[in-house]
Amino acid sequence: MSSCLFCRIVAAEIPAKVIYQDADVVAFEDINPQAPLHCLIIPRRHIATLNDMQVEDAAIVGTMQYRAAQIARERGYADGGFRTVINCNADAGQTVFHIHLHLLAGRILHWPPG
Ligand code: AMP
Ligand code: ZN
Repeated sequence: MSSCLFCRIVAAEIPAKVIYQDADVVAFEDINPQAPLHCLIIPRRHIATLNDMQVEDAAIVGTMQYRAAQIARERGYADGGFRTVINCNADAGQTVFHIHLHLLAGRILHWPPG
């Protein structure tokens, strides 16, 4: 989708600080970080929201979670802890409509979230 910001990052039409990529996912630093580590893991394939997931998309969301855990481990946050979040639609605060897994670590993350 040429109009989608994150599709354009996947296509390298918009710059991003990419920290990992493979045939399925791209991970890059969030432009407005909310923790010392705040990156986004996205599928290369456009899926607008979790509401738009098809059963065949379940594997890619698992891959996104796996990659988040790997990045957290590489950065030294596995034992201390980290959080992964996917916001879905307006009430959850979704602003970019290409699913993305937030990976946050490096500070105490309160619960419940705001
Ligand atoms: P959400 O509110 O869950 O849709 O999250 C969207 C996230 O994308 C926010 O944390 C933004 O800071 C981040 N974001 C928006 N534009 C960019 C960009 N060009 N590069 C990196 N992160 C971005
Ligand atoms: Zn997209």
